[in-house]
Amino acid sequence: MAWRCSGRTNAELVSNLFSAGLITSPRVRDAMSSVDRAHYCPSSPLAAYEDSPQSIGFSATISAPHMHASACENLLEYLPENKDARVLDIGSGSGYLTHVLANLVCGPDGGGAGKVVGIDHIQGLVDLARQNIRRSEEGRRLLDTGKLELVVGDGRKGYAEAGPYDAIHVGAAARELHQSLIDQLKSPGRMFIPVEDPDGWGSQWIWVVDKDHNGNVSKKRDMGVRYVPLTDAPK
Ligand code: SAH
Repeated sequence: MAWRCSGRTNAELVSNLFSAGLITSPRVRDAMSSVDRAHYCPSSPLAAYEDSPQSIGFSATISAPHMHASACENLLEYLPENKDARVLDIGSGSGYLTHVLANLVCGPDGGGAGKVVGIDHIQGLVDLARQNIRRSEEGRRLLDTGKLELVVGDGRKGYAEAGPYDAIHVGAAARELHQSLIDQLKSPGRMFIPVEDPDGWGSQWIWVVDKDHNGNVSKKRDMGVRYVPLTDAPK
């Protein structure tokens, strides 16, 4: 059903996702409306408003819009606007979701309190994400003020330098629920992470990991998904 949400413009795509109930929160709708997906699909601008993943080079894809929406909705409680929330986006790829997350915590003009770090292990993708984000005035402001930071590194280790985090999003399928990432969550905090099922059949599930006020951790298996793997960096 997801493909039916495709549109001819960014506004139409987001409006279709909202009408179909794939976005339910007006905050997520507004944040996705204000970040033009075509800025993040430079080699396939015609397909930018399709509700499907698109290639971004380096064997990576920008995820489908309904997956970005689902990640934001899942984490929303932990993404308060203007309250100095810290967010880590692992496998930031095109930079699209990193930008939407920054829009959610720093407000629509990017001027509020909050900080989002995007981490990817491919330098070329970090450079591409920076270029993509700089296509809008708000994106340039977020980067120039350091409210949105992009770093190269192994996301399986997280990025303790800017943590702990209210919310961690993982955009590639992990082999396990990495303890190093759980350690970098605030109390309270939440992580959204696709994890490969050890059954050997290649299935993957979203896990939502919550750390409560007392530091107690609970894990819930959510929907079945298909992500590229969280791996060693290519040689
Ligand atoms: N959220 C991104 C998804 C990109 S695809 C988007 O929608 O654009 C997954 C990304 O994970 C790729 O960019 C890939 O380079 C990155 N990745 C894979 N393994 C990684 C690792 N160990 N550390 C950091 N990034 C990783």
